[in-house]
Amino acid sequence: MFRRLLISVGALVAVVALAVVFAQEKKEPEKVDLPQMKFDDVKEIAPGVFFRYSSISATDKTVPFGGSNNTWVVFKDYVIVIDANFPKEADDVLAAIKKTTDKPVKYVFDTHHHGDHAWGNTVWAKAGAKVIGSKDCARLLKTSGPKDWKAEQDKVDGRADIKKNELKLVDQDFSDTLALDDGTQRVEFHFLGHAHTPGDAVAYLPKHKILCTGDMCVNGAFNYTGHADTASWIKVLQKAEKFDVKLVCPGHGPVADKDVLAKQRRWFEDLRAAVKQGIDDKKELKDITAGLRFEWYEKWTGVPAKSRDENIEHVYKELTGKIDHSKLGL
Ligand SMILES: [Zn+2]
Repeated sequence: MFRRLLISVGALVAVVALAVVFAQEKKEPEKVDLPQMKFDDVKEIAPGVFFRYSSISATDKTVPFGGSNNTWVVFKDYVIVIDANFPKEADDVLAAIKKTTDKPVKYVFDTHHHGDHAWGNTVWAKAGAKVIGSKDCARLLKTSGPKDWKAEQDKVDGRADIKKNELKLVDQDFSDTLALDDGTQRVEFHFLGHAHTPGDAVAYLPKHKILCTGDMCVNGAFNYTGHADTASWIKVLQKAEKFDVKLVCPGHGPVADKDVLAKQRRWFEDLRAAVKQGIDDKKELKDITAGLRFEWYEKWTGVPAKSRDENIEHVYKELTGKIDHSKLGL
């Protein structure tokens, strides 16, 4: 009898312990009210933290591309801006910042070297800011920036803001992390590995549980993989998912809760698995593409997976050994 009691108590303890472990592991992301925003809207998403939602659409061609989203954080004496955007949009963002604070912009952080995230550096520098970026963001902006900038200037229908401005490089780079903290606000920059580009880094605001991801995570069918390492990208997203996050400010698309990181990861996991299966079955790229169907992706982004040719082709080339990831972005 005693033995039986002991066994049942033991079993109960085990069940409770298991339930606790399970509850901890299955901790659902905190439910948050996401701000409803129209393009170019600015919202204070946490005390002293502002988000500007840039126009973009994967389905409506009449929506102009407004560059990257922007987040800015108001410290005691200065402002930090996340992503430089294009020069024209940087002017718009600077005007929007002035409506929220009279403090000067002291730093702008390039999440990566692409034009819609870094080419506005020139505007921020003229406004007195220092440019921060990861080592590889700084390297790629320095090596490929001048020729990319010139190519845009030489285009007949190239961007007017590039024609009349000049490229501004990163002033202060970092290897793994860099933090700015004045006791009222804290912003941490983290390099987590090669994702959308070799130089991707994120900005994390621990006090507000906000993660600004650049294009390492987008909310919608906005992934560009030209400079990506999708296997490494998955690992980078797994690292990002370990952060204590309530709100994700993606590089493009609306503000999201933490779930968007898992969706972004699942896209590359499922895509790589499907393309690998196709290669194993000796199918050609066009047939693999035609056969792609992820209902969850379509539900998330509004577009079918098979329409994401650029992503699919990049993964196909990666899996058939045609990409040297160390040379991407150069
Ligand atoms: Zn990009």
